[in-house]
Amino acid sequence: MATTPELKRLSESRDLTRIERIGAHSHIRGLGLDASLEARAVSEGMVGQLPARRAAGLLLRLIREGRIAGRAVLLAGQPGTGKTAVAMGLAKSLGPDTPFATLSASELFSLDLSRTEALTQAFRRSVGVRIKEEAEVIEGEVVEIAIDRPASSSSAASASSPNPNANANTNPSSSSNPNPHPSSSSSATLPPSAASKTGRLTLKTTDMETVYELGGKMIEALAREKVQSGDVIALDKASGKVTKLGRSVGRSRDYDAVGPHTKFVRCPEGELQKRKEVVHCVTLHEIDVINSRTQGFLALFTGDTGEIRAEVREQIDMKVAEWREEGKAEIIPGVLFIDEVHMLDIECFSFLNRALENEMAPILVIATNRGITKIRGTNYKSPHGIPPDFLDRLLIINTQPYTEEEIRQILDIRCDEEEVEMSKDAKVLLTKIGVETSLRYAIHLITAAALACQKRKGKVVEMEDISRVYQLFLDVKRSTQYLMEYQSQYMFNEVPQDGDDEE
Ligand code: ATP
Repeated sequence: MATTPELKRLSESRDLTRIERIGAHSHIRGLGLDASLEARAVSEGMVGQLPARRAAGLLLRLIREGRIAGRAVLLAGQPGTGKTAVAMGLAKSLGPDTPFATLSASELFSLDLSRTEALTQAFRRSVGVRIKEEAEVIEGEVVEIAIDRPASSSSAASASSPNPNANANTNPSSSSNPNPHPSSSSSATLPPSAASKTGRLTLKTTDMETVYELGGKMIEALAREKVQSGDVIALDKASGKVTKLGRSVGRSRDYDAVGPHTKFVRCPEGELQKRKEVVHCVTLHEIDVINSRTQGFLALFTGDTGEIRAEVREQIDMKVAEWREEGKAEIIPGVLFIDEVHMLDIECFSFLNRALENEMAPILVIATNRGITKIRGTNYKSPHGIPPDFLDRLLIINTQPYTEEEIRQILDIRCDEEEVEMSKDAKVLLTKIGVETSLRYAIHLITAAALACQKRKGKVVEMEDISRVYQLFLDVKRSTQYLMEYQSQYMFNEVPQDGDDEE
């Protein structure tokens, strides 16, 4: 099994590889709900579609409370009515700690992996494991830091003690400090080069003096935090993390009064030994990949994870179950979103049926814009191309076409997102185009019109830019019209007959 440091490294490095860019849904920042999960008309980049957002809000609450797993939700509606946008809003509202994996059903047919393996990986990418680790943290006042120095080097330093005699046996040079007062022991931060050395740290806690042997990592941490004698620090023994909590106060007289090894110490009460919980979040799939001998850690970044053997997964499930029993780990059922679900075939649907029964299943959200169509891999038709037994276990959320005002607001938000300044008239024209053609087409025209505006050295997109790109790029309606007119000049110019379906 992967060790905890490996999992920790993974959860940290994953955060670094997340790249944000302007995409079709980058303006969506959440579901736009208020505290009682009611949908606001326009909020967090979301416009209208209130019943669907309300339903998604309820789902959000159930997921957050951990009350549902292994359920499936279908987002069904016409093209461009915000099914993917609602799913994205749900993902954003859940936050980064709840896994959200997306997959377009058509991808399954273009992968090297078998379809069931690809679905299994997607399922396991949507289940998080929160692993708790207890770190022993000790708080106390630094009495003495002594660093071993190479015989040849005179620059190696030890942190000076408030009392010059305190370091006398480890670092004779510091005993020449003429000023025994603690406030004057300012020179005593550790050199960064201390990394290659070893040393001792004496921490005084309320009733004892504890000596730590220091390695390079901890010496570096002490140097970085500029720890000096007299500082109160928290020391995480496992990770070597040092946190400076402040300086002990009102001590100088006591130092003067007592002998070199009986220094006065006042530590925060009851905080002698604190156990601090460190939490790492990884997905089941990530644990699978790390433990799969043939792949290893780096495969997570290349995406080329290949097939993972069933025994590896079984072992991991057993280990995770063990951690859960011991209270060391917690399962977070996340969300798996499968778009274009009508592209799945009957084999995939039966796989999903079974997979949802698993104790560690995520919440499955699927979307389609198809009406009654053939179930792929069969000759039967069914609503959305989904087999009736699977359809029966779905909660269905419908999305509705947008009003003119809603289209205007969405286009407004997109202009802001793409940093395109557009005149009022141009926006009116673009909205009209959105109503007559489609929301998606109108969204695409924004960047194109901005380029046209740039070309004529304008600063604000005007109606002329919109008309220009409207003429340059056809929408579906005009393109179809054109096809109808000139079909005889194209190859394979068969007009589909009623009832012809794609496979
Ligand atoms: P399809 O069935 O073709 O996959 P869809 O229903 O998934 O379409 P989306 O892709 O979500 O539609 O929407 C098209 C575009 O409009 C996207 O850029 C999306 O972010 C934006 N959009 C859709 N609905 C909303 C909304 N309610 N608020 C803000 N933006 C939206």
